[in-house]
Order: sequence, then structure tokens, then C-alpha cells
Amino acid sequence: MAKDCYQILGIKKNSSQQEIKQAFRKSAQQYHPDKPSGDASKFKEINEAYQILSNPTKRQQYDQYGSTFEQAKSKGGFSGFDNFSDFSSYAEGMGGAREGFGNIFDNLGNIFGFGGGGGTNYSATSRANQGRDLEVILTIDFTEAVFGCEKEINLKKYIVCSVCRGSGIAPGSRLVNCPDCQGQGKVYKIQHTFFGDFQTAITCPTCQGQGKFPEKKCAICHGVGRIKGTGKIKIKIPAGIDQGQRIRYSNKGEAGSFGTSSGDLYIIFRVKLHPRFKRQNFNILSETEINFSQAVQGDKIEVDTLEKSVMLKIPAGTVSGQIFKLKNKGVPYLRHSGRGDQLVKVDIKVPTHLSKKQQKLIEQLNAEKL
Ligand SMILES: [Zn+2]
Ligand SMILES: [Zn+2]
Repeated sequence: MAKDCYQILGIKKNSSQQEIKQAFRKSAQQYHPDKPSGDASKFKEINEAYQILSNPTKRQQYDQYGSTFEQAKSKGGFSGFDNFSDFSSYAEGMGGAREGFGNIFDNLGNIFGFGGGGGTNYSATSRANQGRDLEVILTIDFTEAVFGCEKEINLKKYIVCSVCRGSGIAPGSRLVNCPDCQGQGKVYKIQHTFFGDFQTAITCPTCQGQGKFPEKKCAICHGVGRIKGTGKIKIKIPAGIDQGQRIRYSNKGEAGSFGTSSGDLYIIFRVKLHPRFKRQNFNILSETEINFSQAVQGDKIEVDTLEKSVMLKIPAGTVSGQIFKLKNKGVPYLRHSGRGDQLVKVDIKVPTHLSKKQQKLIEQLNAEKL
């Protein structure tokens, strides 16, 4: 265990017993090995940290000697340390544990933003203010999916405040440097570690890292630059889209705060069934019926497509269930030019009600073994 007990529980060094207990319960629940988010070694760490900090005597000794423990061990140990066994595993963990030190320095690296610099911090902050991505399911008609269309949808979401146009500044007012961070976008706080006190930069809560602050906030959005509302969104649905497919519409998601960029909108399409046509990828499937004599002699019949009807040649000797292809009468390809085909399945109608004349003809056919 090479980490700070306070850090493990995510609490401040001056936390009350009540706060320690609460922090312990929360972390222990989160990392309990029985939970999906569980982590046995983390859970053990949390327990050990709590054992120390929940005991006022142990806590006092830890606070007093914890940061110089490495020295204490090389010198042969503090006399006080011999008294509490809980520290034995702790001491082993610290003794020449290179890895442990590496981790601690990594953590310090994060605190100071090594390698990143202010720019990285700023972009991280503005990312946090950016609007969220949204995902909605949209039901469209069969032919709308095949040929594409334009739609206007209404979506409840954060929208840019129209009064201040996203700036958060009251009309007639202006931006000034944030009084709490003097325009830096971050404030500093002291963090206590084994190695002494370190300054930690955190995002300024007053300006949310913007550094600027409206002299007078927009009364409509309270200075945030966005409000809850209904966004009217025009979307273009490409020809060939199919059931269950998803399209991203850039910047059509939730508006960001302080005029930062909006999230994206993802639309998942549901396509209504058609009474007479089915779809199989980019082909359209349909069925039609012909008479027995048409099947035998062949014919030209009219077949409905998604557009206007076309003539289909039925060759002599067609069997029931035979499939004929109408080239390029299917669905336009989504990603390149051209389109699929329509596949027409032809069934032979068997008459159930015959006129006297038909009855006679059938009898004659039967006599001819047809
Ligand atoms: Zn506003
Ligand atoms: Zn500030």
C-alpha cells in the first residue's frame, strides 16, 4: 500500500469522522468484490485506509509520521510504530517499492499537468462544457427509406439561448475577467502528500474554467448560454437507408454551455412495412399471380414497382414460384451509385369457381392429360 490513506478514500486531510465513514461506505460499496464494478485489491486498500483513519490514535500517528515513514524505516523505525501491527504490511509495501514511487509521481504528474501544459487543461475544460451527443429513434415510411427524404423533427434538448446567442452575457453587458481566478480559468488549492504540500490546479467553479465572466449574466439562461427547449432539426435522410441503421448528424445534439460546440445527434431508423413490397438489402421483393394458361403459353403482364408499373415478359413454361428480375428497380445503394433489382415471384392461380364453359375446357384438358 503505497498510497495516501486520504487519497484512497477521496477525502481531505481535515475530514471529520463522519465524512471518513461516509467516504468509506461509498467506496466500499463501489469496489466490493461482489459488485460488477468490484475490485478486490482496491477494496482491501479502502479497508486498510479506513482501519487507520477511523481510529483516532492510529490516525494521529499516521498524520504525524506517515510522510516520513520511509526515513523512519531506514533509521530503524520509530518506537511508536512498533505498537500498531496494521502498519506492518504498509511498511513492506513502502520498503524500496520502486513501482509504488512511480505511481505516486504519476499522480503528481497529473496534478501539475506535466507534458500537457495549460492548453491541454483548457481543452479538457471546454470539452466538459460541450453539449452532449443525443440518440433518437425515428420511424419513417418504406418509400422514404428507399428514396430518401428531408424531415424536420422536434427534439427536447438544451438549445442555444437566443437572447444572448450562447454567450451568457446580458444584452448590453460585457465579459470581464473572472474575479475568482483572475482570468486563469483555474484556481489553486494545497494538497498534502507524503512528500509535503503541493499546489493543485482545479477548474475555477465560478467561471467553469472560462476565465471570463459576464459583467451581467443573461437573465434567460442565467449566464450558461443554453436553455432547455425544443430544437427544430432539419435532417436529410439518404436514399437506401435501412431498418436499424444509424446516422450521425454533426452538431445537432445538445447545445454546449458558454457558446461551446454542440454534441452530435445520432438517429437510428425504424422503417415501416409496406403492404406489397418487402426489402432484402438493396433488392425489392414482390409477388404476382398468373393464370395456368399464361404459365403454359407465356405472356406479358403488368407488374407494380415502387415507381410506375412495368411490363414483365412471362416465358412459356413458367412454373409456380419462379422468380423474375426487374433490373435496377430496387433500392438505391447507400454508398455508391446504382441500385438493386426488384425480384418478382410468380405464382400460378388455381381457380376455385369455374363457369360451365371453363368446366368443359378443363375436362377436355384433363382428357388430354394436362
Ligand atoms: Zn442567455
Ligand atoms: Zn474563474
